[in-house]
Amino acid sequence: MPDPAADPCFDHQPALLSVEEAVAALLTKAQPLADPERVPLMHAGGRVLAEDLRSPLDVPGFDNSAMDGYALHSRDMDRAQSEGLVIAQRIPAGSTGTELQAGTAARIFTGAPLPAGADTVVMQEFCRVEGDRVILEQTAASGANIRPRGNDIKRDNMVLESGTRLQAAHLGLAASVGFGEVAVYRRLRAAIFSTGDEIVEPGQPLAPGQIYNSNRYQLSALLRAQGCEVIDLGTIKDDYETTRQTLLAAAGQADLVVTTGGVSVGEEDHIKTALQAVGELDLWRIRMKPGKPLAFGRIGNVPFIGLPGNPVSTFVTFLLFARPFIQHTQGCRQTTPVSWPVQAGFDYQSKQRCEYVRVRLTHEPAGEPVAETYPRQGSDVLSSVAWADGLVEIPEATRVCTGDTVRFLPFSEWAR
Ligand code: AMP
Ligand code: MG
Repeated sequence: MPDPAADPCFDHQPALLSVEEAVAALLTKAQPLADPERVPLMHAGGRVLAEDLRSPLDVPGFDNSAMDGYALHSRDMDRAQSEGLVIAQRIPAGSTGTELQAGTAARIFTGAPLPAGADTVVMQEFCRVEGDRVILEQTAASGANIRPRGNDIKRDNMVLESGTRLQAAHLGLAASVGFGEVAVYRRLRAAIFSTGDEIVEPGQPLAPGQIYNSNRYQLSALLRAQGCEVIDLGTIKDDYETTRQTLLAAAGQADLVVTTGGVSVGEEDHIKTALQAVGELDLWRIRMKPGKPLAFGRIGNVPFIGLPGNPVSTFVTFLLFARPFIQHTQGCRQTTPVSWPVQAGFDYQSKQRCEYVRVRLTHEPAGEPVAETYPRQGSDVLSSVAWADGLVEIPEATRVCTGDTVRFLPFSEWAR
């Protein structure tokens, strides 16, 4: 086993980085997966588009009626209001009519093509039918109730850019221009394992001094929410050789290796030395709370992220660091977490680190939502995360007073 004391990497105190510096450094190492695949549109939800989609057609492809009603030419409007117009044809959606003759109207339904010779649709609520005629009870503006060809999308226009994570509306839009399948980035295969002699799987009995493995479950779920395929290698003991072998086994079958625990400075923390033996390691100390130690490196060409072991730190560092790294690797254009301003419902003084407090929003009838903090904010208090709607970011050495505007990072946006 390498001797940490003799290793120049551990001789110096690594620099303290800001969160932004650490994210920027991580993103320079993220390479989008090179081998996209084509999938049926029905299965493309949550995947990242790997091609620009341009529309091969106008949508709608023809002028059509926005209402159930009567199509006519505005020239005949006066006549339609006095003696009425002969209903010369009937055009349901899906069929095409014939050219409208002067002095006639067409019964028309929503989505049906406007017949040549008509320029206006009058909604049926404003009409009265007498025999074979329709009589208008109100006038309508020329051109009313018509959805012109190309109103939504013009042929050859970009509809979706490569790098878009496909959500419901994107799928609907791709379908509306006729794409039955699309090229998407491959799902990232993430191998994970937890470290710690004290860790036991839920469902098993606990011996004195042991705790249940919570990171394995939250980390798997977080990765799946990012569209990753998870290769779960379970939990390993705090042992150098096991750690080294598990790192190699993980890298042999994954695009990314993510671990929790074992990256702080105690002598039972073997991730660092083992990683150095099989690859490369950067150990970053980040001016943040919870969090601070984050290991980044690679095993051969496979990137490695070592998250801290405390469950709240695992969760928060995943959001801030692993998530943008994974999104970038999966080809996502947008990697910055969504945030918005809210009002602080608390007082807080941060120290020399950027702090991420767990908050719940209360929605006032008027004005900004107000963020309330969970009473216990320790990095071991996982109930704070389960309770919260998201995080409020408090910059280092900052005093926040009730009523101040603060930045809120919603958990609901994490899977985007
Ligand atoms: P470490 O980074 O390994 O020193 O772990 C820091 C703290 O997190 C310790 O209290 C560990 O017991 C705890 N911890 C580490 N891994 C897990 C895990 N998988 N589930 C729950 N707690 C953990
Ligand atoms: Mg440990």
